[in-house]
Amino acid sequence: MISDTTLLRIEDLESVYATIPPMPCKAGCGKCCGPVMATELEAQRVEAAIVGLPRSSDALDCPAMDPQTKACRAYAVRPMLCRLYGHVPNMTCPEGCRPAKQMRDTEARGLLTLVERIGGRARLLGGQTPPKNR
Ligand code: SF4
Ligand code: SF4
Repeated sequence: MISDTTLLRIEDLESVYATIPPMPCKAGCGKCCGPVMATELEAQRVEAAIVGLPRSSDALDCPAMDPQTKACRAYAVRPMLCRLYGHVPNMTCPEGCRPAKQMRDTEARGLLTLVERIGGRARLLGGQTPPKNR
């Protein structure tokens, strides 16, 4: 059972997420779904959403990515870094997807700091290994 404190922290997270402009994404792509850092609370939410689901045989694929369809199976609870992907100059989508409004790197860093304050220290999502020469 989720405690009241955790529910409040989730509400706070969701209100920060809501400030990010929407962005289109190509179905079946998954190119940016490799090793991803998430705060402890965000990682727990993603991991809870994918319990028991089969994973990609490539350890460098995100465990939340469906190995067949490449879709995110934890889309509703995906962490901040995934939500920011494509929104800032140093994380542009290789498929050309762009948000309605681009953000500055400093804005994105500010949001990541805010989320870290709410969600705790960042770590790799469950079972992922750090990237080497990908
Ligand atoms: S954001 Fe771009 S790279 Fe990532 S899955 Fe969507 S289309 Fe592919
Ligand atoms: S959590 Fe979802 S959006 Fe983020 S890297 Fe994993 S599969 Fe991709």
